[in-house]
Amino acid sequence: MQQISNYDFTNKKALIRVDFNVPVNDQFEITDDTRIRAAIPTIKKVLKTGSAILMSHRGRPKGEHSDKLSLKHVVSHLSVLLGVKVILADDCIGEDAKNKAANLKSGEVLLLENLRFYKEEKKGDENFAKELASLADVYINDAFGTAHRAHASTTIIAKFFPNDKMFGYIIESEIKNIDKVVKDTKRPLTAIIGGSKVSSKITIIENLLTKVDNLIIGGGMAYTFVKANGGKIGSSMVELDKLDLVLNIYEIAEKNNVKLFLPIDNIIADKFDNDANTQSCDIDQIPDGWLGLDIGEKSTQNFINIINDSKTILWNGPVGVFEMSSFEKGTKKLAEAIAEATKKGVFSLIGGGDSVAAISKYNLTDKVSYISTGGGALLEYMEGKKLPGIEAILND
Ligand code: AMP
Repeated sequence: MQQISNYDFTNKKALIRVDFNVPVNDQFEITDDTRIRAAIPTIKKVLKTGSAILMSHRGRPKGEHSDKLSLKHVVSHLSVLLGVKVILADDCIGEDAKNKAANLKSGEVLLLENLRFYKEEKKGDENFAKELASLADVYINDAFGTAHRAHASTTIIAKFFPNDKMFGYIIESEIKNIDKVVKDTKRPLTAIIGGSKVSSKITIIENLLTKVDNLIIGGGMAYTFVKANGGKIGSSMVELDKLDLVLNIYEIAEKNNVKLFLPIDNIIADKFDNDANTQSCDIDQIPDGWLGLDIGEKSTQNFINIINDSKTILWNGPVGVFEMSSFEKGTKKLAEAIAEATKKGVFSLIGGGDSVAAISKYNLTDKVSYISTGGGALLEYMEGKKLPGIEAILND
């Protein structure tokens, strides 16, 4: 396997699978450019001596051309970030892409149009992958967020570059950092899992039960646990069909010596609204008509104590409706405690869209050890599954 840091790109065209799946507003301005910024080091490394052909998906165009989901909206911002003019091909395959790729000189950047304008991308079509591959000499996969999918541009394409395929810097550092949580773990390892639903996190929870010392459950999903234990949860979010599953989690936790922590108190509201009337109460004593939207002060302090006693922390999902200022306190305090612990040498990995958003809201992005870019990919990697996009580079 080749490594990006010592590969000689001189006069080579590198086809880089990036993740430019960025949101735009009604004026087509990018509202969060984190993913584009993350890809810059890999692109710049290539551009020192070679040329870069970038390919990505954006949104879910389902195999149809869509103006809204075009990558043309990314061109000018990418040019600014790179300090280089970016040429756009009006399609990802075909004559225009071929001509523009053929004429590309060292130091130049070509951006191909959205890969998912073709159904073949998600189907992992071999001919489609071959056409993309024909544009370049080297293949780099730097899209960790789609590494768990065997798509044409993330996996199938690698076979056309048997000796010239490698990870970009993002995937390299994702693997290195996630391994610090799942492989070379410094203990105690604490996972804080929040967010709305047990159902969407159940696989990660089950998997974490074989790895962590402490598992903290917060957010909307905590109420399914409280309900399963016979508590009164008023109108709080709950998944009634998951009560058995939750009881099973308790059993596995006990068997595996995992300490499971739930909030003991919470902030309740009389409606799902920032301006609702609020009060604090025990988490299993919520009056009818009220709903729990944040963890309470006692719980926050308990969780901070656990954070302070840990050597490794994984955080996935907010512990309250942090988007509303009335219910953000718990999430904010935990984010600050994680940043403080990191300063003292704890390894903290933040993964999953909403905890990343929370860390960024409180300006703590530089104060945690690592922020993973891959939602589903991160979870599958942590589950111990082999990700096709990673295997395709590792295997000959
Ligand atoms: P997820 O995508 O599953 O990580 O869920 C994140 C979402 O969970 C955020 O938008 C939060 O507002 C929401 N959330 C957190 N706590 C609660 C709660 N107690 N009730 C309802 N939603 C919540």
